[in-house]
Amino acid sequence: MDLRLHDTLTREKRTFVPLDPKNVRMYVCGPTVYDFAHIGNARPVIVFDVLFRLLRHLYGEAHVKYVRNITDVDDKINDRAARDFPGLPLNEAIGKVTEETGRQFHADVDALGALRPSVEPRATEHIGEMREIIEKLIAGGFAYVAEDHVLFSPQAMNAANSELPRYGALSNRSLDEMVAGARVDVAPYKRGNTDFVLWKPSKPGEPSWPSPAGIKAEGRPGWHIECSAMAWKHLGTHFDIHGGGIDLVFPHHENEVAQSCCAFHQSRMANYWMHNGFLQVESEKMSKSLGNFITIRDLLADWPGEVLRLNMLKTHYRSPIDWTLKSLEESGKTLDDWYRVAADVPPGKPATSVIEPLLDDLNTPQTIAALHGLRNASDAAGLTASLRLLGFLSETAAQWEGRKRQASGVDASEIDRLISERTAARARKDFKESDRIRDQLAAMGVAIKDSKEGTTWEIAR
Ligand code: AMP
Ligand code: ZN
Repeated sequence: MDLRLHDTLTREKRTFVPLDPKNVRMYVCGPTVYDFAHIGNARPVIVFDVLFRLLRHLYGEAHVKYVRNITDVDDKINDRAARDFPGLPLNEAIGKVTEETGRQFHADVDALGALRPSVEPRATEHIGEMREIIEKLIAGGFAYVAEDHVLFSPQAMNAANSELPRYGALSNRSLDEMVAGARVDVAPYKRGNTDFVLWKPSKPGEPSWPSPAGIKAEGRPGWHIECSAMAWKHLGTHFDIHGGGIDLVFPHHENEVAQSCCAFHQSRMANYWMHNGFLQVESEKMSKSLGNFITIRDLLADWPGEVLRLNMLKTHYRSPIDWTLKSLEESGKTLDDWYRVAADVPPGKPATSVIEPLLDDLNTPQTIAALHGLRNASDAAGLTASLRLLGFLSETAAQWEGRKRQASGVDASEIDRLISERTAARARKDFKESDRIRDQLAAMGVAIKDSKEGTTWEIAR
C-alpha cells in the first residue's frame, strides 16, 4: 500500500512520491522562542514526529531529513528580553531569553516522545542566506527597496509571464480580492497594499545585521524570509513536504512559496503542503484572557508525556481537536494498560493493521483502534513493536508504575508496610483489622488486589 498525503495546495490526497527516495526531505515551521510552548504548539510537533517516524520506517532512517527551525528574531522576543533583563544590553538579554526558552522547548518536546529533527536551524545563523534571496528577488523585479525596507510585490509576481505559481494559490485566495479588501492605512513606503516586508531597519539597540545591497543602514529580516532561507540552506530549492499549523497557510506559507519560487525561478517549493488543525480546550478557544491557556509544562506536571502524545493522536491531524480532562484520563488508563501488557515484552514486528491507516494520510484514530485490536487479541509482541514505532513505551513497566506512584504523592514504602500488616492480620484471621487497613489504603487512593502470588497494589485514578 502506498503512502497518501493530503496536500493543502491541490486540496486532495495524493500518493506520496519522493523527489529522491534516498533523501526524503521535510520542513516544519518551529517555535518562536520567547515563552513556554502551549499545548496547541505541541500538536504540529507530535503530528510531524509521527510522519517523520513513518517516513523513516518506509525509506530507512538514513534517508529522511527533517528540518524544524527555531525563530530567534522576533518582536515578542525583544519585548520579553527588555522586560526580564532591563539591566542588560538588549542583544545579551535576547540571547538569554532565546537560549533559556529553547532549552525549555527541548525538554518539553523530548518528554512528548518526539525525536529531535535532523537539523534545527536558528534564524540568526542564516541571515546571509536571507540576504542572498532578497537580492535575487530585487534583481528579478519581485521586490524593491523603500525607506530602508525591502518589500515583496505579489502583484509583480502574478504579472510575471513564467512558470511561477500564482500568488494566493496555496491559501485559495484571489490577489484582486486581497487588494480590494486590504486596510487603507498601509505604510506609505509600500507601492501596493498587499506588499509584505522582507527586510526592515532595526531601531536603536535592536539586533541588526548588514542589509541587502542598496541599503546602507543595518536592519533585520521579516518572519517569512527566515523559513525560505533555512529551508533552502538545508533542503535545497525544491523538497518533498512542508508542514505547520493551519494558521500558517496565510500569510506565512503563501509568502514562503512566493519568495522561494520567485528567487529560484521554479513552480514549486514543496511537493506536499500539510497543515494540522487547531486545538481548543474544553470546547473553547485557548487564550490567556480566557484563563484556559495551558503550557506543555503545566500538563507534564500532572501527566506523563506519553499520555499527552496519545491524547493528541486520538484525533485526526486535520480535524480540530478538543482537549479535555476526560479524554486525558481515558488516555492515561489506556497507557497504564498497554504498559502492563506490552512494555516488558520483546517486540515483534509492527502490525500491518497499525501501519495501514497511517499510510492513509496519517489516520491515527484508526491506528489507535488497531492497537486496541492487538491488545484484545493478546498480541503483546505486535503491540509492543507497534507502540515503539509510534513513539510510545520509552520506559519499563516498573518505571511507569513508579512514576505514577510518585506523581500521585503516595509513599510506596508506607503502602508496602500497610500491606504486610494486613497480610499478617489475615494470617491470624483478624479480618476486622485487615478490612480496616484495606479501607485506609483506599482512602489514600490505593487499590489492592489479592492473588495466589500475594497482594499487589495500584493507584486508583
Ligand atoms: P507559533 O510559535 O505561534 O508560531 O506556533 C508554532 C506552531 O504551533 C505553528 O505550527 C502553529 O501553527 C502551531 N499552533 C499554534 N497554536 C496552535 C493551536 N491552538 N492548535 C494547533 N496548532 C497550533
Ligand atoms: Zn515558517
